[in-house]
Amino acid sequence: MINKKNLTDRFLRYVKMDTQSDDSSTSFPSTAKQLELSKLLVKELNELGLNDASIDEYGYVMATVPANTAKKVPTIGFLAHVDTAPDMPGVSVKPRIIENYDGNDILLNSENNVTISVTDFPELHDYVGQSLIVTDGTTLLGADDKAGIAEIMTAVEYMMGNPEFKHGPIRIGFTVDEEVGRGVDHFDVKKFNADFAYTLDGGAIGELEYENFNAAGAKIIIQGRNIHPGYAKDKMLNAMHIAMEMNSLLPPSERPEFTVNYEGFYHLIGFQGSVENATLQYIIRDHSQAKFETRKAFITKCADFINAKYGEGVAKLELKDQYYNMREKVEPVIHVVDTAVKAMELVGVKPKVKPIRGGTDGARLSYMGLPCPNLFAGGENFHGKHEFVPIESMEKATEVMLKIIELYESK
Ligand SMILES: [Zn+2]
Repeated sequence: MINKKNLTDRFLRYVKMDTQSDDSSTSFPSTAKQLELSKLLVKELNELGLNDASIDEYGYVMATVPANTAKKVPTIGFLAHVDTAPDMPGVSVKPRIIENYDGNDILLNSENNVTISVTDFPELHDYVGQSLIVTDGTTLLGADDKAGIAEIMTAVEYMMGNPEFKHGPIRIGFTVDEEVGRGVDHFDVKKFNADFAYTLDGGAIGELEYENFNAAGAKIIIQGRNIHPGYAKDKMLNAMHIAMEMNSLLPPSERPEFTVNYEGFYHLIGFQGSVENATLQYIIRDHSQAKFETRKAFITKCADFINAKYGEGVAKLELKDQYYNMREKVEPVIHVVDTAVKAMELVGVKPKVKPIRGGTDGARLSYMGLPCPNLFAGGENFHGKHEFVPIESMEKATEVMLKIIELYESK
């Protein structure tokens, strides 16, 4: 059996450390405080007997659980990230355990009247009788992704303490800056040297993801022509009006607030302007590669229309691909997903395979040569003060991880 107490204690220890990342920083990692947790993890991995545990100049932690089987077994990697979301305080996290949850609303903070209500968060029903770790209603919890870290550490502890549990080589990786989208910028896939890997960075119990968006960013700069309004007739080009016209060419129904599942979108994320010039910024998302290309072609056509109407050079479009759907890279090694599904079923977890409406570090790693689906870490309501994690879900995530390892050894 895995050590449930150690699993819980680890989680509580990690969430109390402030590891918030910062989008506005240009350093790597974006905040030095993340390194404190990375260093602690190296120390703890050493104490568990992983002698090669190390931290590199970027803050990535890598370590190996050496194989203890004579069979030829693939090298499996497990990854989690140390940072927490930049838009929510991560300092002075005061986790609280609610034992034997009774199914009612959870009062987090009486002073500020912060509650996780069953009406707003009906998924609470799934956890009656379980032990929930919640916040004090003033910060996030950081189960994203410290639940993943605690689970990986606990699986390592199990393997090191149970030599009769046979396994191939296991690689452990802890990354920084996932929440600001730079999580694998400097990650050395060759040095990590796994055949495939899993991030433990998903949400509720059972989640398994290997499809994500194809993603691009589009910036449209509109060059207007400012003239004294009294003399503007037939001369002025008001960049803001042209920018709004440009935006109106994109279908309103294809915005994030009106789309779900496999529906892609154009999302306006920035708009600045004066009469003289204006800038529109979008992100473009679609699971389908073909539709993704069509979207980029369409926004290009819209900019061309503006130029045809107002003059060449009025609209300048910059399009940049950001990441791609990992499905293309995972499908050729679909056993990675099938084995995870089987592992969940064997430990009594119902698999919930769903497309991610976003990206993951795993998506980028998949394109860097390391196929990397995402497994649940167990938390709910990430990035906010309503975040919580059931200890039972963390236990199951640890069991799933060990079962995957066992299945590959016994193949
Ligand atoms: Zn995460």
